[in-house]
Amino acid sequence: MKSGFIWTLLKTVLGLSLVWTFSMADTSCLGFYKPSKLNESKISREIHFKNLNHSEYDVVIIGGGSAGLGSALDATTRGLKTLLVEADDFASETSSKSTKLLHGGVRYLEQLWTKLLTQREWDQTLYNLIRDALKERKTVIENAPNLAQPLALLTPIYSWPEVPYYWAGLKVYDLFAGKKGKLPNSHFISAEQIKKFYPQINANGLKGGVVYYDGQFNDSRLAIGLAKTAVANGATLLNHARVVGFEKEGEKIVGVQVKDMISGETYTVKSKTVLNATGPFADKLRQMDDPSVPAMISGASGTHLVLDKEFALPEAGILIPKTSDGRVLFVLPWEGKTLIGTTDSKSDVVEKPKTTEDDIAYLIKEVSQYLSQPITRADVKSYWTGIRPLVSDPSASDTAALARDHVINRNPKSGLITLTGGKWTTYRVMGEHAIDQVMTQLGLDPKMVSSKTDHLKLAGSANWSFDNYRNLMNQYKLPSDIAIYLNRIYAGEAKNLLDTYPQAHERMSEGLPFIWAEVYYAVHFESARSITDVLARRVRMATMDKLETKRVLDKVGKILARELGWSEEQLKEDLEKARVEFQIE
Ligand SMILES: Cc1cc2nc3c(=O)[nH]c(=O)nc-3n(C[C@H](O)[C@H](O)[C@H](O)COP(=O)(O)OP(=O)(O)OC[C@H]3O[C@@H](n4cnc5c(N)ncnc54)[C@H](O)[C@@H]3O)c2cc1C
Repeated sequence: MKSGFIWTLLKTVLGLSLVWTFSMADTSCLGFYKPSKLNESKISREIHFKNLNHSEYDVVIIGGGSAGLGSALDATTRGLKTLLVEADDFASETSSKSTKLLHGGVRYLEQLWTKLLTQREWDQTLYNLIRDALKERKTVIENAPNLAQPLALLTPIYSWPEVPYYWAGLKVYDLFAGKKGKLPNSHFISAEQIKKFYPQINANGLKGGVVYYDGQFNDSRLAIGLAKTAVANGATLLNHARVVGFEKEGEKIVGVQVKDMISGETYTVKSKTVLNATGPFADKLRQMDDPSVPAMISGASGTHLVLDKEFALPEAGILIPKTSDGRVLFVLPWEGKTLIGTTDSKSDVVEKPKTTEDDIAYLIKEVSQYLSQPITRADVKSYWTGIRPLVSDPSASDTAALARDHVINRNPKSGLITLTGGKWTTYRVMGEHAIDQVMTQLGLDPKMVSSKTDHLKLAGSANWSFDNYRNLMNQYKLPSDIAIYLNRIYAGEAKNLLDTYPQAHERMSEGLPFIWAEVYYAVHFESARSITDVLARRVRMATMDKLETKRVLDKVGKILARELGWSEEQLKEDLEKARVEFQIE
């Protein structure tokens, strides 16, 4: 009896000391973990710069697109002392130029099927890719419900044999989603129903359609949400800060040189590990580290058009699985507009790619075949082009057949870890896998302090409800479209925005829900430092309407000049930069 008691006591003491040892190891090895203050999130670029030289980081992440931001959030919530540096603005490259769908990839499903039927081969990797992405689309919707929602997509079918083909395929898509990724089930819709409810669709030869579900989101706003959440959890994030070199001891990377692209000053930052998350530019950084490594990225560019909302179905997207040249085409309702996009084709990797009139003409021609009312160049309100990082054999010509999965690659000599490929939908698991690798390199077992992002609500998203817009309407006397918009984009932070700038609640532009307070908020709470930061990625006017953007450009420039203390010359330069980037000269 007595020895039993002593044994129990010993076990308790042993257990407690193990927990204590681990928690000590946790805090001493992993830097600081700050409890989240998700409704007070603010990115203070200048304060972050001030702290830069002071200590060594556990991880420096290069690149502030979806891959880098997802990794920063994963790292900081696991307790790693984390710095992220972005050469331009958060999501200023590919991550603000996507189709804005959260998807498992119906096209990959078709590839899986074709391989099974023609080569009798089950491609487990492709299956895992689809299943994981289906789960992640639901995770994003749950963690940022204000910025991501389910979207019905209708595939019109113009030949009888294709009816069972697409119906069965999309049923399998539902099945692969399982419980974790489940959205409403797909269903068949007759040609008569389509004609009755969706007169926008060309009914010539229409046999019917299949409706299935994916997610839709606001890409650059999700990026800002990730950035704020990472900061609220202790990470240091810098936009307009380019990595211009690596610090090495022997062959090993022990830090980075960061150039403040605004002041021109260069800082040396010590770090135990460095993660290259520069998307399409990943090879540049890999070869800056080691010029002998072979390239692994192929670029694939894709263009999108924005039109007034009448061209889309009010509550569903249209997906054309095969255009005349075998591409997938989307016509989606998005943020009160119509978004048209197609899959990408092989291209060079360039910064800020331009959209050509040929790209625009191609989309107009293809889409017009599927709409009852053909579209014209005059209907196009905005457009942009983005470059997808495909991890692949650069000599291949067909980008559609190349791997869409993410890749984590480590240079054994220098220790540089590269995360690239993948897609927006899977940013969270990409971050988790990359930080697992970072932990291993730090000599820590990733299983001991595993990822915490699966159920982590993003800044402002906790307790969000669509109906909260009514409170904003009543309290601030706002029109419903503005209240709905502010509630979705800023969620729990909308009141803070409205209270902080009570004199700036007016609309920036007729017919669009943006208000002037957002420009100030972008500068002081969301680290916007240029006109393009404000108008392309915070307030998304440039994405929606180039003419309106041109109209407000000078006024936005003047506000920024005053708030940021710019000289006349700086204002002129930034206005010019915006005109070039927005293609509105
Ligand atoms: C046309 C198109 C449509 C797409 N549609 C979808 C979709 O509907 N759904 C989906 O899930 N995915 C979609 N994607 C894919 C998705 O957008 C990308 O996979 C994702 O945005 C890539 O993010 P990233 O962080 O890897 O790269 P990026 O967003 O390009 O980020 C890399 C960042 O690194 C920075 N950088 C480069 N060099 C340096 C340096 N030296 N120092 C510091 N920073 C540096 C760059 O400025 C850039 O901001 C689409 C892609 C394209 C092109």
